[in-house]
This record gives sequence, C-alpha cells and structure tokens, in this order.
Amino acid sequence: MRRALPRRLPRTAAPAHHEIVASYLARLAALNHLDGDELWKSVSVPGPTAARRIVTAERMSALTGRPAEHLAGALPELRATAEHWPLFRHRPQPGCPRCDARHPGGPVWRILPHHRYVCTRHHYWIGPPDNDSHGPSLRGNREVIAAQRKHLRLVQHFGPGATYDAVLTAFMICAHRWEIFRPTSGLHRQQQIWRERSFQFMPAGAELSSFTASKLFACLYPEAVDLAPLIAAPRWRQFAASGGDQLTRFVAEVRRRLRDHDYQPQAEQDAIAHWIATDCWRPPTTPPNTFATARGNRKPSQVGRMKLPSAERTIRSAAWFALKDRRGMGDAVLHHVTLRPVIIREWSPDMQEFRGAIWNSQRTDKRFRQPQSAN
Ligand SMILES: [Zn+2]
Repeated sequence: MRRALPRRLPRTAAPAHHEIVASYLARLAALNHLDGDELWKSVSVPGPTAARRIVTAERMSALTGRPAEHLAGALPELRATAEHWPLFRHRPQPGCPRCDARHPGGPVWRILPHHRYVCTRHHYWIGPPDNDSHGPSLRGNREVIAAQRKHLRLVQHFGPGATYDAVLTAFMICAHRWEIFRPTSGLHRQQQIWRERSFQFMPAGAELSSFTASKLFACLYPEAVDLAPLIAAPRWRQFAASGGDQLTRFVAEVRRRLRDHDYQPQAEQDAIAHWIATDCWRPPTTPPNTFATARGNRKPSQVGRMKLPSAERTIRSAAWFALKDRRGMGDAVLHHVTLRPVIIREWSPDMQEFRGAIWNSQRTDKRFRQPQSAN
C-alpha cells in the first residue's frame, strides 16, 4: 500500500542553493522541534539498503509546501538525472558565512561546484573543504576575487571537465613551485607574493589557530588560474606535445604567464615538465568521486560527522608551518585530498606511498634530462 504523503510543517524555510537534503532536513527539524532522522524517514522511500533510503521530490514538496521543481533547482539530490554529479565536489562544506546566515535553523551544508572558490557577492573564500569551518574574508585580496571571475570564464570557454583538470593541475604546479628552495628570480617574486598572502589569511603568531590547507589554496589561486588556460586549451596541449618550435612557443607562454623569464623545463623539481612529458597528450582527468557515490551525509544525524582524512595532517602541517617561517607550504597543498586526482592519474606508476606519487609528479624520466632540450 502506498504511504500517505507527510503533512506540511508549521514552520518551513527555503533550501539554500546546492544544499544537501540532510542539511535542509536538519534545519527544518530544528525549526519545528522535531527529530531530523524521523523527518528523513517520512520524506523517503526504501532504497537498496536501510541507510540508503531515497528522498523523493514529491514527499519533500508535501512537507515544505514548495513546488517540486523549485526544490530540485536548489537541491541537487532531487534532480531527475545523474548528469550533474561530476560538476560538484563530493564532500559537503559550509559556504560563504554571509550567504549561510540568510538561512535559519542551523548550519548549512552544501556541495559546491568544482569551479566555486570565492563568493563574488560577499568576498569570502569557499575553496576546497578542509576543517569544516567557514573560509576567510578576502577583503583586500582583489586578485583572489578577480581569479574567480577568470575561472568562471574558463568554464564557459573550455567546459567544466577541461577546466576542472586544468585548475587542479595548475594548483599542483604552483604548489610544487612553492617548494623550490633555490628559485629563479621570477619564481622568487611569486613565492614572496604567496608568502605575503599567507600572512593575510594566517596572521603571524596565530598560525596554530588560524591555519588550514584550504587557505594555502587561496594564496595560490590567482597564479593557478593565470596558468590554467595553457593546460585547458587543446591548441596549447598540442603545442606542448609536439616538441620542436611548438614546444618552444609553449615554454615562452609558460614564462609569460608565470612572469618567470628564466623558466626552462628541467628533469627534476618541475611539475610543468612532468605534465609535458606525461599528461598533455592524454585526456584531461575527471573527478574520481561524486556525492552520489560517496558515503554518509544522507540523514540529518550524519551531517558534519564525516571523519576528515586530512585532519591529523592539518595539525602536523600547522605546527611545521609555524616553526618553519612559512617555507615549504606547498607541501600541505600537495597532500590535500583535492589534488590527489592530478597527482595520481590513471596512467601514473604505482607508488607505495602518496609521498612517492608527489615526488613522481615533479620529475621526468627521459625528456628534459638535457637541460636545454626545449630551446
Ligand atoms: Zn556570500
């Protein structure tokens, strides 16, 4: 027999954009002094397992009094097709604090699109999820805000798939470059810019309390987005793969975009050379996980409870960070789970440890063993 639809709640609220259903239900439950998981049962039907009940738009609509299409527009889980899942990060996170504050009933957990790093309305960092707190304000960081606008143009121009691969690859390249101990003069300037930004997000003396790896992504974001078009554009990929004059033109464009006129592909400590030799002629890497296949975060009692794989590392990096006078910060970025898909690609050799994969992603075996081969 078909179960009756749930009764409409006395107090309802609008869902936030890209909010997960469990977060929305937790807020509705709090507003009405109800149990969130009971509410979840009332709007869902049995799924493949007891923990995998399926929330239906029809039942959510009855509960909230809002049209099903309106709900599906905000809540990706209620959409009829699965095509949109690769566009989103798989882990829910808090969004911009000012956007979240508009929604009553408790914390708002969203799955943000891969290309969302900055709230362009309120100027807050909403980059890769890290320690589940809100990101920093970007007041005074105009170049970080401008990078988000450039990033959106990349999505329009190259599509979300190529942009996903290009921006993560560029982050990885910049993170490796932050690690280079004897930089060229252009790289030295870049490292100083990253270091200055790190003081804005994590003031001196407050490193242990203010450190998150996500903020280090914010330090690198403008330069990563400047480099990304070279990695996304099919023409530049072809130039990089061809060798000869075309490779020379590609290297000249790398120098221009990095503002590093001494850049020359090297066999070691050079993630760009690695990308030229190993990745540019292969298809862009796609997101390995989606929210649809990830575990947890389905019922209200699970929201925000997922154990973070990087939590312990974050603390260790923080201590190191404080001690080392802000050197070697690229390492915390490289270890962040966000970069894993471009550090271990489908064709990467098997490495026992992730550290080995990171090492491999900045070197080449044969090409560029002769330092001048690209000129
Ligand atoms: Zn906002």
